[in-house]
Amino acid sequence: MSQIMDKTYEHERAAHKTFKLRIIYNKKGCLSSGHCLLSDPYDFKLDDEFKAILVDSKEGEGLQKGVFFKDIETTEPHLIMNAAKTCTPKVIAVIDLETGKRIAP
Ligand code: SF4
Repeated sequence: MSQIMDKTYEHERAAHKTFKLRIIYNKKGCLSSGHCLLSDPYDFKLDDEFKAILVDSKEGEGLQKGVFFKDIETTEPHLIMNAAKTCTPKVIAVIDLETGKRIAP
C-alpha cells in the first residue's frame, strides 16, 4: 500500500477547498497503536483500554455494531487520510462524499 499522499487532495488543500468526508472506523480491529491520533488528534482519542475512539461518531447497529461513522467538513483532508493510511490493521476508511470514492487508505 502506497503511503504517498493523493496529490489531488494536497492541491485542493492548498486551495482551501472544503471537503465533505465520511470516516468509517471498525473499533473491533483496533490494535491500540495510537497512530491515528498522532495524525488526526481532532477526530481520534484513546479510551481507557487504549483503543481508539472516533470522536462524536455514531455506532452502527446489528452487524455494524462496533463500527463507527462520522461525517466531517474539512479543509485539511490530509489529517484523516494520514490517520487511515498509518493505521496498521487498516480499520479506518475515508470516503469523499462528493465523489463517492474511498480516498484512504
Ligand atoms: S491507528 Fe488503527 S490500530 Fe492504531 S489506535 Fe488508531 S485505529 Fe487503533
